Amino acid sequence: MKNKAHKGLLDQLVARKQELIALEQHSSPDKIQNLDLGHGDDMDIAESIVEQEMSITMKLRSSNEIIMIDEAIEKIKKGDYGTCENCERQIENKRLKARPFVKFCIECQEEMERNNEESASPGTLPQFGKLE
Ligand SMILES: [Zn+2]
Repeated sequence: MKNKAHKGLLDQLVARKQELIALEQHSSPDKIQNLDLGHGDDMDIAESIVEQEMSITMKLRSSNEIIMIDEAIEKIKKGDYGTCENCERQIENKRLKARPFVKFCIECQEEMERNNEESASPGTLPQFGKLE
């Protein structure tokens, strides 16, 4: 029953992962090697460098997402997807729908955010949707 409920999500995660991998391959280093420093004018080089930096940033971001997707896929397969890693309670479905990669239930998440707020300056933390 549990697995069936997450079947759609699993497909979604696999599809998203493939998308990200395709994206990574698209922005692979051979593009950087093709950079022709000998002939292009300064503007071209500057643009290429900006482009490179952007693709590296995007790559990092997509790698992180791939890791999170992998974790979620693993959990779905093991059948423990949707349980809080801290207190092992079931995370609300609504919460999972909104944020498929959450690892903690709302109570633990809030607790952690409270702890974070003590070290970070207030107002700069991303707002986690209140799902009630
Ligand atoms: Zn918890």
